[in-house]
Amino acid sequence: MRQRLVVIGNGMAGARTVEEILARGGDFDITVFGDEPYGNYNRIMLSNVLAGVEDESGIFLNDLSWYADNGITLHTGTRIERIDRFARMVYSEDGTATPYDKLIIATGSRAFVPPIPGIHRPGRGYHQGVFAFRTLDDTRAMIRYAKEHERAVVIGGGLLGLEAARGLQNHLPHVTLVHAAGHLMNTQLNEVAGETLRASVEAKLGIEVVVNAQTTEILGKHAVTGVKLADGRVIDCDVVVVAAGIRANAEMAAASGLVVERGIVVDDQMRAQDEDDIYAVGECAQHRGETYGLVAPLWDQAKVLADHLTGVNPFAEYHGSQVATKLKVAGVDVASMGLKEPASDDDESLTYTEPKRGVYKNVIIRDGRLVGATLIGDVKKVAFLMQAFDRGLALPEERAELMFDLGGPAGEVKVEDMPDDEQVCNCNGVSKGAICSTVQSGCRTVSGVMDRTRAGKGCGTCKSVVQRIVEWAAGGEVEEDPAASYYVPGIPMPKPELMNAIRLHELKSVSSVFAKLGGEEDAKSKMGLASLLKMMWGGEYVDERDARFINDRVHANIQRDGTFSVVPQMKGGVTTPAQLRRIAEVAEKHEVPMVKLTGGQRIDLLGVPKEKLPEVWADLDMPSGYAYGKSFRTVKTCVGSDFCRFGVGDSTALGIALEERYQGVEGPGKMKLAVTGCPRNCAEAYVKDLGVVAIDGGKWEIYVGGAAGAHIRKGDLLATVGSGEEVITLTGRFLQYYRENANWLERTYAFVPRIGIERIREIVVDDADGIAAALDAAMDATVASYRDPWKDREQPATPGQFRTSLPLTVLPQVPVRA
Ligand SMILES: Cc1cc2nc3c(=O)[nH]c(=O)nc-3n(C[C@H](O)[C@H](O)[C@H](O)COP(=O)(O)OP(=O)(O)OC[C@H]3O[C@@H](n4cnc5c(N)ncnc54)[C@H](O)[C@@H]3O)c2cc1C
Ligand code: SF4
Ligand code: SF4
Repeated sequence: MRQRLVVIGNGMAGARTVEEILARGGDFDITVFGDEPYGNYNRIMLSNVLAGVEDESGIFLNDLSWYADNGITLHTGTRIERIDRFARMVYSEDGTATPYDKLIIATGSRAFVPPIPGIHRPGRGYHQGVFAFRTLDDTRAMIRYAKEHERAVVIGGGLLGLEAARGLQNHLPHVTLVHAAGHLMNTQLNEVAGETLRASVEAKLGIEVVVNAQTTEILGKHAVTGVKLADGRVIDCDVVVVAAGIRANAEMAAASGLVVERGIVVDDQMRAQDEDDIYAVGECAQHRGETYGLVAPLWDQAKVLADHLTGVNPFAEYHGSQVATKLKVAGVDVASMGLKEPASDDDESLTYTEPKRGVYKNVIIRDGRLVGATLIGDVKKVAFLMQAFDRGLALPEERAELMFDLGGPAGEVKVEDMPDDEQVCNCNGVSKGAICSTVQSGCRTVSGVMDRTRAGKGCGTCKSVVQRIVEWAAGGEVEEDPAASYYVPGIPMPKPELMNAIRLHELKSVSSVFAKLGGEEDAKSKMGLASLLKMMWGGEYVDERDARFINDRVHANIQRDGTFSVVPQMKGGVTTPAQLRRIAEVAEKHEVPMVKLTGGQRIDLLGVPKEKLPEVWADLDMPSGYAYGKSFRTVKTCVGSDFCRFGVGDSTALGIALEERYQGVEGPGKMKLAVTGCPRNCAEAYVKDLGVVAIDGGKWEIYVGGAAGAHIRKGDLLATVGSGEEVITLTGRFLQYYRENANWLERTYAFVPRIGIERIREIVVDDADGIAAALDAAMDATVASYRDPWKDREQPATPGQFRTSLPLTVLPQVPVRA
């Protein structure tokens, strides 16, 4: 008779161990119990589901048919309550008894929920509005509830808390993260790194972070209304997500007489202490004193246990895992491995910081080997560092190569030298061999291989290595990935095709596009589509507010303390005494904490609470300066020929004319312009999306594709023209061509090199494709439909549009200056 193998826990470790056993031809009668009502899914992708970048259906690893096809008896929604080790039986909560010869416990862990008063309702589970973040059901419930509410507090500033906070932003406008320790991700990061991360999370994501914040009470009678901190502060909110750590699900094992400390104590073959036939894998297991909260160790454990149980290698041993963590939050890159700080005087430690850009890099070397690394803000070197850390590679003499690409040999392991069983994607446990065999079976696009193997689909940091392996395995025959040309990730169509379909079916709202063309409704896609539809339909576009960025919802720029900055229009940087007086009066009347000149030659009133925006706009009675949103921003100008002794062109007048015409035009990315009166370039026109420079002979040079933000690029010369009118026409034509052809969020500095300046010149200047008139007409229509968004104040789009919902704290970053 075949041996009966029973697995308790149908999570990532349990199912993976079964897969490994089947792969080795293991001959067992397999029965799996899982208390969740599903097949087996990739839990780490729940963060992506919450963030709207992954669909639920995309996270299943094995659906129910996989179990049937492999002759496995699966009991879903069935909890095992007790093991009778002497009778060799497991008992489920419904009373059924199942005998085993070999037993694997893979019960994982659960969210640790601190005993905060008010977190539970007596006898009824969590208080209404309180959620843990562990299962698919948790995630679904959280999304459903959050969508109908405004403010969330996430308790816990570790990886999970950060991912939860970012994901929640997809469903409600205000998220605050409270963290009991002094800095974020304190388990993995040192204080400076944690502080760098906090600054990025606040500035780039708009999530408010409160550290040293001990939550002492959850407030609210029928549903959550806020959280109270130990210092007495109250943060109003209607949703609370607890991400304060995990605890192994080992109570059932302990009650059944197994040795349990922080987890079920196992030996190097994953065997429970003093047992012959009971094993434990995954987060519920404690091996050599360690419990793990990440997937990489469980892949290793599953292999060892499968080798041992199937007899492929009865003496296989697990010796522990080195762990690396990565944050799955778009826009804020964090990777850390090993030590966060040097542990002894002999440890070599190198640190590079660039606080303004949110960059922090640190590597720790011991005896010539990498024993720790932290990368924040720039994780380009992570694949190499991971390999060096995992495999103890010799490090380059020039230590700086560990942090930067210096143009020399990268020191990276060549893919051809990697052994087949080397794990490339730690999140999904995919080896080089698995990638190669997928390519050999005929799949030759990088994204196709990623979809099939799931390599690179967790935190994504191994993508570059996956790509190199695919290229190598395909012997130079990699096919182009069609997804790279999709306008937005959610709808599998390049922009021209998408625009044709939108026109054909007359789709005028974001929801109608999804309804007609299918696709995944993630936030990024919604905002991209909103921008496209506005460009195509102008005034006929049907606005849906959930498709907008927060800045676009209130027409002001959200700042790190939750207040807004208000920037009135000041065309070409020119103002009048009357305007200045008005601004000064408004600033005084509303006690605006800071009045500041912006980099775009305007005046910024910083620190205005949300509910005051309509009043401030009304008092200013000036148009919006468009200092927010993906749109035409401003035209910076220099003094020009009127006053400057070097000036050869009237840059100020031309700048004003350009701004007057193209104000508020929306696009795939922001559009910053400048005009200078001579090549001395005082208004920095060479590094703008479109920059105009006056040269001798009454001529103007037009540069496109420049940038001087996080990315720096000198623009390419598009044309030299003889009059301001021609500048205005070509500007409109170029911007319209960019609006129609760039992908969502693709700035001109990426768009221009992608299309090529010669090709752009052919179309925009020489009209080689005969579309110039159509581009001009489309731009004319957009210009004609301009409406100042600050007029919204008269009729708020939603009752909550200008209602404050953030607890505002005066931060030192927006100080009152004398
Ligand atoms: C939102 C989120 C994001 C994450 N992101 C990452 C990441 O980026 N990288 C990373 O490495 N890790 C990540 N993790 C951690 C990772 O998901 C876990 O390490 C992994 O799932 C552990 O696998 P496991 O099988 O041990 O436990 P689980 O996947 O938790 O599976 C255990 C299963 O057993 C069931 N069970 C428990 N007791 C019983 C019982 N008595 N009877 C029957 N069934 C039972 C549980 O309900 C559960 O379904 C993340 C986790 C979460 C929640
Ligand atoms: S104003 Fe601009 S440059 Fe300054 S911190 Fe904000 S985003 Fe960065
Ligand atoms: S760019 Fe030339 S014209 Fe303009 S202010 Fe500078 S020197 Fe004067």
